[in-house]
Amino acid sequence: MKEYYVGVDLGGTKILTALADARGKIVAKKKLPTEARKGEEKVIQNIVSSIDAVLQEKGLSREDVITLGVGSPGPLNTQEGIIYLAPNLGWRNVHIKDILEEETGIPVILENDANAAALGEKWFGAGQDVDNLIYITVSTGIGGGIIINKKIFHGINDGAGEVGHMVIEPGGPVCGCGNRGCFEAVASGTAINKMGREAVKENKATLLMELSGGDPEKIDGSLIARAARQGDEVARKIWDKAGYYLGIGLANLLNIFNPEMIILGGGVMNAGDLIMEPMKKSLKDHALESAFNSVEIRQAELGNDTGVIGAVAVAMGDRLLE
Ligand SMILES: [Zn+2]
Repeated sequence: MKEYYVGVDLGGTKILTALADARGKIVAKKKLPTEARKGEEKVIQNIVSSIDAVLQEKGLSREDVITLGVGSPGPLNTQEGIIYLAPNLGWRNVHIKDILEEETGIPVILENDANAAALGEKWFGAGQDVDNLIYITVSTGIGGGIIINKKIFHGINDGAGEVGHMVIEPGGPVCGCGNRGCFEAVASGTAINKMGREAVKENKATLLMELSGGDPEKIDGSLIARAARQGDEVARKIWDKAGYYLGIGLANLLNIFNPEMIILGGGVMNAGDLIMEPMKKSLKDHALESAFNSVEIRQAELGNDTGVIGAVAVAMGDRLLE
């Protein structure tokens, strides 16, 4: 009898696959390397192996699965199930829905990974009690998912929620998209690392120098956090700056969407108060009062499983609304 869902979190380095029961509770998980360098066919093969592995663990077969949800980097087309471009996978125009349906016989629903994570937090994480929320993940880049009345807002061609590319500082640092001063060019983990490396190169940050042994390549977020906690002014200012920009970005989102909740995830948020305090101040300074007063800022709850739990939520789709 069909009463299970499978979620696949497709990443550049690993594939995380979960089997969930009819209520979305995860009953088996499997992690496999993506092996993107070995080509598209190998990656597909690994996805299929991970699906079979979770089914086998519970003595089930593909016939027991109602739908398969896939969270993938984009841009992509959720209706047609096509991944247009995924640099981490080396993919261009891959018809993942057709391919996986052909390979497994299970109906496939494709979703952008940040949107999937947003759905995961809404249905199984920090956002369970609200209908309108914005999920933001701050890691190497900045991604987001906008949930309005319990559903992802996709825009006209799945382009909505690309919060990482709203312009925060015109003329600012160059972004991966080619523009300048995007949110992720000033407030992501990559931007924070860059600020740390530049400080070291300019001989400004004594403690950062010491902790990295003078090697700018060794500077990363956790090292900058450590230096800040040990009293390094330069390191603290890096967090202040990132938090300031993060607050501006969130204020823009608050003013436009007036959500009940903003959920923050991603490795950068592990810096805790170092980034949260300046962010909150900046958010209060830049947001309209009514939007600011009615929003709750929460940390993501699902950790490393956000993506795969989100993929399960994608698989469950409208059944979650029942
Ligand atoms: Zn950009």
